[in-house]
Amino acid sequence: MNAGAMLGQKCPKCNNGKMFYGVFKMHTECPVCGFKFERQEGYFTSAIFIGNFLYALIVAPTLMIMTAVDASVWKIAAVLGSFSLIAIPVIFRFARTIWLHVDFMIHPDEALPANRIKNPQNG
Ligand SMILES: [Zn+2]
Repeated sequence: MNAGAMLGQKCPKCNNGKMFYGVFKMHTECPVCGFKFERQEGYFTSAIFIGNFLYALIVAPTLMIMTAVDASVWKIAAVLGSFSLIAIPVIFRFARTIWLHVDFMIHPDEALPANRIKNPQNG
């Protein structure tokens, strides 16, 4: 697992290919090495849990501080609403990146069905 590639949202296999090309758009495979990012149907479902965890890490302390200083519900909603507009695209991308890098560390690409189909002579 390469922390630099993870922060730069690069391919877990070659650490060079960019994973995203828009705010929410992701390449289906690495533009450099051809590694398939969505390794199977529903592959990124686990990234939702990572995303929720990252979001909670930021929102929970903010909420605690704002309730401690007796901020009104509207102020809390305004702060968290504006924060969410900025944070959700960032968290979405990092959640998928973290998930892909962790899964690649645990399951190198050769062992997965999606890549066996791509190279039938290997499976
Ligand atoms: Zn790559």
